[in-house]
Amino acid sequence: MTWFKRENGDFPAPGNGPEGDSNGDAAARTVRTEGLWIKCVGCRQTIWKADLEANLSVCPKCGHHFKLNARRRIEMLLEPGYELVDAGLRSTDPLNFTDIKPYKQRLRKAREETGLDDAILNAVGRMGPHEVVLSAMEYSFIGGSMGAVVGETVARAVDRARRERKPLIVVAASGGARMMEGVVSLMQMAKISTTLAQLDDAKVPYICVLTDPTTGGVTASFAMLGDLNIAEPGALIGFAGPRVIEQTIRQKLPEGFQRAEFLLEKGFLDAVVPRKELKAYLVRALDFMKTPM
Ligand SMILES: [Zn+2]
Repeated sequence: MTWFKRENGDFPAPGNGPEGDSNGDAAARTVRTEGLWIKCVGCRQTIWKADLEANLSVCPKCGHHFKLNARRRIEMLLEPGYELVDAGLRSTDPLNFTDIKPYKQRLRKAREETGLDDAILNAVGRMGPHEVVLSAMEYSFIGGSMGAVVGETVARAVDRARRERKPLIVVAASGGARMMEGVVSLMQMAKISTTLAQLDDAKVPYICVLTDPTTGGVTASFAMLGDLNIAEPGALIGFAGPRVIEQTIRQKLPEGFQRAEFLLEKGFLDAVVPRKELKAYLVRALDFMKTPM
């Protein structure tokens, strides 16, 4: 059964554990229930997956916002008939990097699992009455980390927005720069920031939506450079993680540190917007900012 998960490690898989073989039909029963239910990390209640999906992956009981993949994010925000653009870029593994396994192997696995070339999708389409360029990050592709491909894809979205004078929306979800690409990842921060400065000069609006989690080099570059920087409820947003900060400053961090609501209170964000209201909020913001022609 997969209704519950141990906090510290999973149960042994059938056949592998000490009592794995004692129950011959355990595997069959697992198959029947697997994937139907999910335990909410917010309220710890068991919820039906179909209910969760029908509710934009927001817990119907406590409002916890689960991660949303890039495709669903685009479907949620754009009208039908949008077009995916700037696809087909793949990392060349510039450092020929290997940690516990080769980076090339990680990339291959991530591609298979997500069906994407890297941790991002660009789309152009209509959001309410507005033609927009939308760039959505994919957290399940190596933690949504930013290497050369993510950097270039965001930069292309920015350039497209400037050329076509369409507002730019970026939905960030990232663990930060991709360490397997080292300095090449860090260079993306400068590249994207430069293109965003040009977008600003051209007076084309840019809104960044920070989702759980948005950290590291992504927070330190484009995720915080929007004309509006808004976040989903409960999103973890920061540069370094809380443990690193605590150890560095040798102080206990306040409650809710690095969560969207705390950051809003401290003036780090412009708004915290629940997912259900997100599209309407963005449309209203774009009505207000209207691209000057
Ligand atoms: Zn919940």
